[in-house]
Amino acid sequence: MLINHAVSGTNLSDYSNEILASVKAKNPAEPEFHQAVQEMLESLDPVFERHPEYRTAKIMERLVEPERVIIFRIPWQDDQGTYHINRGFRVQMNSALGPYKGGLRFHPSVHLGILKFLAFEQVFKNSLTTLPMGGGKGGSDFDPKGKSDNEVMRFCQSLMSELFRHVGPNTDVPAGDIGVGGREVGFLFGQYKRLANENTGVLTGKGLNWGGSLIRLEATGYGAVYMAAEMLATRGESLEGKLCLVSGSGNVAQHTVDKLIQLGAKVVTLSDSDGYIYDHAGLNPEKLAFVMKLKNERRGRIKEYAERFKSATYTPVDPGRVDNPLWDHKAQCAFPSATQNEINGTDAQNLVRNGVYLVSEGANMPTTLEGVRIFVDANILYAPGKAANAGGVAVSGLEMSQNAMRETWSREEVDRRLHQIMKKIHSNCVQTAERYGTPGNYVNGANIAGFLKVADAMMDQGLV
Ligand code: NDP
Repeated sequence: MLINHAVSGTNLSDYSNEILASVKAKNPAEPEFHQAVQEMLESLDPVFERHPEYRTAKIMERLVEPERVIIFRIPWQDDQGTYHINRGFRVQMNSALGPYKGGLRFHPSVHLGILKFLAFEQVFKNSLTTLPMGGGKGGSDFDPKGKSDNEVMRFCQSLMSELFRHVGPNTDVPAGDIGVGGREVGFLFGQYKRLANENTGVLTGKGLNWGGSLIRLEATGYGAVYMAAEMLATRGESLEGKLCLVSGSGNVAQHTVDKLIQLGAKVVTLSDSDGYIYDHAGLNPEKLAFVMKLKNERRGRIKEYAERFKSATYTPVDPGRVDNPLWDHKAQCAFPSATQNEINGTDAQNLVRNGVYLVSEGANMPTTLEGVRIFVDANILYAPGKAANAGGVAVSGLEMSQNAMRETWSREEVDRRLHQIMKKIHSNCVQTAERYGTPGNYVNGANIAGFLKVADAMMDQGLV
């Protein structure tokens, strides 16, 4: 297979370069989607070489085209009676392995390209969990910051008034993501139930007393830490005593910190979109409880952490800086848990230079392509998001099973299953990377293993 370095500065074969060029031409102004496709293609050339049947069946060409995209108007009224119009989306990317499954994101930066990248990643992530789930993603450019509970409720009801006809427990099962937590899932579920006249497991991340699963809240963060522990174990090490950098301060960050503290690691950073804190004394359960109250109940800013705890300093975001100073501290492990592309090439270099040799991505695609190459070239333990943060959707899958069986499993049972799934994802990545000639490369391992299962299902199901 010809490797053409000239076309786009990548190491892709002519075949993969053609796919990427076509994705870029057909989906202009969607750079995050291009990035996610390119990252997959960079791993997949050896697969296309070994399996020409995938090329003949145009599996990759089909995978980059969503099965269905729904875009709709969301009109709602604020507490003063003023009308607002937001845009709603659901990207139903691929259903080869099961009903579409993936979160809803509420953030002003949301546009179709962001949701297509997330839905594309979700297809392979869900495949890695071993559970029967296809991939999808949705959301809105609505900004929940500063909105009252009533405004959020009216917005969620308006969104679900359209979305309800496109989702269902055997069709498409949304969950939370950035800006969508227990409060929003509750409002969305209430409206679905009212319109569909059905109390069914159409969303995951539900409240514990109305169909939710224990450990779902914790699952993504816990899973990212279980993944880190597995990676360290390959070098005979554990998380005990490790100095860790965590970004974000939402659901994923909070439960990453929780598990890291439980396992004896020391966490010194957290952030939000305004800035970050560095606490040289490290977080402890009391400080974490403060963060949870601050973010989940008072909906305040991380700056207040440094006002409350004197061992911490706060650094506001400097829009003129190319790097993020959070990633420029001495540490051994990093857990990016905020958003996409929060680690660029400079940040990746800073991390490696400061001694970080493990990165487990709680967020989706938090590292740019340049950053990924730096981690891979430095041969650090680097688990990409689609493997490291798969624990969230895995427990969503377990929530679906419990709903279908009308059963509730104990906290220990769900945590045990989550742990097992993360161990399986880890060993699948390791074995697949080895099988394809790049031992220790978790990016290739995750991309190839995730792809193979979906590709084989698509081959079995014919040209659809
Ligand atoms: P939350 O909304 O609970 O928290 C998001 C955190 O990231 C907040 O601290 C937020 O700060 C910060 N953040 C969001 N957008 C930006 C931005 N553009 N720039 C800087 N900081 C930002 O979301 P989650 O914790 O659920 O999600 C975090 C990441 O994990 C996302 O990439 C998500 O896709 C991924 N993920 C989540 C899963 C889940 O189960 N929830 C599952 C798998 C992946 P601020 O409050 O200022 O906006």
